[in-house]
Amino acid sequence: MSKDQKIKNSLGFHMLIAAGGSGVRAGFDIPKQYKPLHGKPVLRHTLEKFMGLQGVKSTRVVIGEGHESLYRAATAGLTLAPFVVVADTRKGSVYNGLCSYKDDELDDVVLIHDAARPFVSAASIHNLLDAMTTSNAATLACSMADTLVTDGYKTHDRNTIHGVQTPQAFRIGALKSAHEKFGRDNTFTDDAGLMAAMGEKVTLVPSPRDNFKITTNEDFIMAEKLLASQTQTRTGFGYDVHAFDPAPVAHIRLGGIDIPHNRKLLGHSDADVVLHALTDALLGTIGDGDIGQLFPPSDNQWKNANSAIFVAEALKRVTSKGGNIVNADITLIAEEPKIGPHRDAMQTRIANLLNLSPSRIGLKATTSEGLGFVGERKGIEAHAVVSIQFPSDME
Ligand code: MG
Repeated sequence: MSKDQKIKNSLGFHMLIAAGGSGVRAGFDIPKQYKPLHGKPVLRHTLEKFMGLQGVKSTRVVIGEGHESLYRAATAGLTLAPFVVVADTRKGSVYNGLCSYKDDELDDVVLIHDAARPFVSAASIHNLLDAMTTSNAATLACSMADTLVTDGYKTHDRNTIHGVQTPQAFRIGALKSAHEKFGRDNTFTDDAGLMAAMGEKVTLVPSPRDNFKITTNEDFIMAEKLLASQTQTRTGFGYDVHAFDPAPVAHIRLGGIDIPHNRKLLGHSDADVVLHALTDALLGTIGDGDIGQLFPPSDNQWKNANSAIFVAEALKRVTSKGGNIVNADITLIAEEPKIGPHRDAMQTRIANLLNLSPSRIGLKATTSEGLGFVGERKGIEAHAVVSIQFPSDME
């Protein structure tokens, strides 16, 4: 999100995400809101849209019965209010969500949003909140481009017809009352409809058509293309060398694991040459200096530090810019110790550090055929390359 898109509206608000659908309509094996889209679940894409916005007081998801483990996997690491479980209809589910707010929050604004609309923009949310300064109900709505006809080819004036989207904004207490009065009436398919039935004027806030609801497989294909056009891929490279310490020891730390060996590497931290190269590769994608600048050896707090800390900090910096790691590829060059027996453990450890599947971590080891300082068993070197997708508008 660029700086000028940040929500300037001083009105705080709550987010309530309807994610209770079973997804059976589209014939998917898992509910569509948990299906992976461009490497992560649809629900996560949607939630991440609200995470950095100014004014969000809470974000709560209404989830389907039995979806708890899917939900936990999709939302790991996000700060969310406790989830609420669905009722047997969408309206009932939203009502369950509304009941989770405290009495002193009933005058607050809540934005109700479909989990399957991951393309909502910060600008649209800003416009919606703006509308709520003069309105009691507002919804995003898009204009119609196609000629609209009913059976028998009766043409309708498309200027008077709108495609209603979400988020929709209301005062929590007012929407709760509307649900209590009309919630069992099946003619209403959205919350703004309930408010209109209460006699409230619903403000239509123009929204782009790309805020569509992912429903069918065709929608998934369109969403993939849209996300691909909204990302830029960057590559980072890291290189590191450490010399062997002549003093005898029991273990050497490489790739985040301790391998039984009689020599370790010299260094201020744990001297994990693999994780140092990886840290520099991560930082390289955002032009954010290098490991020596972030964790200077002159600083005593990094003495004997576990290098997993350095990877975590670099990952945090990448993630804060919206980065999603595609893969990491690492080559370790050493005459000793033998890496082969420990390769899988190292790969798994690095995958865990980066929150990736091990299949996205390349880890290769080679000797240098007796040539150079590595060949003379004076030290070990490591090279790392990472590929990371960032938002296309990132500077
Ligand atoms: Mg180093």
